Amino acid sequence: MNHALHPLASDPRHTRGRRFAEAPAPTRSDFQRDRDRIVHSTAFRRLVYKTQVFLNHEGDLFRTRLTHSLEVAQLGRSIARSLGLCEDLVEAIALAHDLGHTPFGHAGQDALHACMQGHGGFEHNLQSLRVVDVLEERYPAFDGLNLCFETREGILKHCSRAHAQVLELAEPGGVGQRFLAGTAPSLEAQLCNLADEIAYNAHDVDDGVRSGLITLEQVASVPLFDRFMREALAAHPRLQGRRLLFESIRLMLSAQVYDVIDATRAAVLAAGVQHRDEVAGAGVLVRFSAGMRAESTELKRFLFQNLYRHPQVEQSMDDARQVVRELFAAYVAEPPAALSRRDGDTAERAVADYIAGMTDRYAISAHQQMGGQLRFEPAAVTGG
Ligand code: MG
Repeated sequence: MNHALHPLASDPRHTRGRRFAEAPAPTRSDFQRDRDRIVHSTAFRRLVYKTQVFLNHEGDLFRTRLTHSLEVAQLGRSIARSLGLCEDLVEAIALAHDLGHTPFGHAGQDALHACMQGHGGFEHNLQSLRVVDVLEERYPAFDGLNLCFETREGILKHCSRAHAQVLELAEPGGVGQRFLAGTAPSLEAQLCNLADEIAYNAHDVDDGVRSGLITLEQVASVPLFDRFMREALAAHPRLQGRRLLFESIRLMLSAQVYDVIDATRAAVLAAGVQHRDEVAGAGVLVRFSAGMRAESTELKRFLFQNLYRHPQVEQSMDDARQVVRELFAAYVAEPPAALSRRDGDTAERAVADYIAGMTDRYAISAHQQMGGQLRFEPAAVTGG
């Protein structure tokens, strides 16, 4: 830690600890150690071959889950340093927040969730927690990575009431409790949530325009983007193409970061909280200003309508859902040799864990090997 912690920040010296007690590391704080364990995990390395929006093979220069996670960590740490929050905890949460994602992004998760109806469902936030709590097999004394409570709390950013009740039963007063009590997580967890949104809005505009699926003119219909494009053009009247896109995004990112810092400082002051123990009862304090919140929501809506639901994206996502469905049915009927089933898990849960752990290309090749007919033509994107 190279800056003074704010009194509301999470402090590794006051961690609520790990599920299995371990001696402290000689040179690293507990949150640094969590970050390091995440970076060395198998699930982390797989993120490089998992879809964010564009399928992994559609172009080498689009975001993957890995580069997305690094961007969330960068934005999160930058804001954390300004606010005096714990950078190491923010980095750990950011790098782990998408570990539970299936191949093929949200399409993969929707398909797996549908397959798991009647078997407890599938939810990627819960799966990220399951990866770090159970599925990683690295340490002699325990399953998972045995991360600190604060890191696990941040990873579980959403959770249904039903799932929270199951978690609470297994771990009373643990990471499920806040979803039952309606309390807020640490400021670092709140920050990662917002940094996630800032990162994907910005990089999806970038990838979307570079792919040719949306145009700069279309994005300019969104007031938030238009404002920064005008600002870029006012400073550099002859700017165009890729540089205009990047400069507009850069200005937008900076403005959003400064907005979060100012709005959060104001919210902390207004809440009158003095100590980290009061954060849980103070509601969400890491936030955009009301104006930026409205503008960001509008940009998100634009991306839904014009990029995530673009016919070419939908086509590859239909194929992805079919791959997941057919793999699931085949593996439940006949479990593959590599599948490990833990005590107490249903066959369906073991298959869901197995499929969720796959990279896009592993899933495609497994599907082809069992005779799947999908050819997965890369979408006609120009990406570069
Ligand atoms: Mg994310």
